Amino acid sequence: MYVHLPFCPYICPYCDFAKWPLRRSSAARYLDALRAEIAAAPDFAGRTLFLGGGTPNTYEPDTVAALVRDLRARFAPGGYAESTIELNPDPELCTPAAFEAYRSAGIDRVSFGVQSLVAPELAVLGRRHTAADVRDAVATARGAGIANVSLDLIFGTPGQTAESWRASLQGALALAPDHVSTYGLTIEDGTPFADWFARSPGDFPTNDAEADLYGIAIDTLGAAGFEHYEISNFARPGRRSAHNANYWANGDYVGLGVGAASFRGGVRSTHVRELAAYVDAALAGGAIPGDAERLEGPARAGEAAMLALRTLEGVDVSAFAERYRVDFHEFYGPVLTEMRATGTIDVTPTHVRLTRRGRFVANDVCGAFALYAG
Ligand code: SF4
Repeated sequence: MYVHLPFCPYICPYCDFAKWPLRRSSAARYLDALRAEIAAAPDFAGRTLFLGGGTPNTYEPDTVAALVRDLRARFAPGGYAESTIELNPDPELCTPAAFEAYRSAGIDRVSFGVQSLVAPELAVLGRRHTAADVRDAVATARGAGIANVSLDLIFGTPGQTAESWRASLQGALALAPDHVSTYGLTIEDGTPFADWFARSPGDFPTNDAEADLYGIAIDTLGAAGFEHYEISNFARPGRRSAHNANYWANGDYVGLGVGAASFRGGVRSTHVRELAAYVDAALAGGAIPGDAERLEGPARAGEAAMLALRTLEGVDVSAFAERYRVDFHEFYGPVLTEMRATGTIDVTPTHVRLTRRGRFVANDVCGAFALYAG
């Protein structure tokens, strides 16, 4: 189960998520709407809980804790196998009392939006925390008994060099995280970064430079003992994200809140991304407006192939045949031949996986499988 808390203390110039600058009155009304959606939602026995945003820790810690307790009581009386909250490592928000409230409500994993540990890059990204704030926040979380720590980093930031990227990776490793996610900066339409890119594309790294940075992440985190278990995700053994693993396994999930996505019984749906439309509908007790699409037959198999290929294990062809009634080698024969020739996939009798080379062009390779089926 995913729950979206969309308010942020400030807005980062590259961000395209469903988020709004914090206004206490809007945040309170949103919480009422979310609680109304929870009350009206059908039962769903999810194994994991993920509070994402936005910046979930813009809400008071006790408010978050009460929400988590209510979600557990409603959907997981036996507790969740993993409960994660995304956090901004702002020192005012990452207090011992906050982590204590999260832990006592059952949150056992924290994911910090670090993005960089290099001051000029943080400034370019519009982030207001410092490397010292990140260190303090991680120590405070662990001091409160939340041991499972994930750090998000961004590569491809204007002005970033191989050396500065290595400095962020090494700085992150010095904090002994359990999990690291590395995302290539994408230029999203309608953001200040899109305007900057339109004015001055030379300020941004080329695709080749960005690929070099990705390679540095793979090598650095691999040398430190992290499993590269999904294109953007690295974990110490036993510390993969169970929540995200369910997405890549094409499992069912329910998203609550503005812009949240769900996948249930073959139907993929997304709530409206407009705050007022979501809040008004939820408070009125009606259906939340949005899009829905039933994935069937080859389209569903294609989606599953695309997701599985993102992972270290890749597609298990016998499990795939059992679940989707598709002989992977036969159905995807032409795509497999083409991708093998480019050295982007490895095909064995039991599995199909991305090669290291394939990971650098993963969107194209995974997309080819989805399109072929589609
Ligand atoms: S990147 Fe995160 S903190 Fe920044 S505006 Fe987007 S959701 Fe908020």
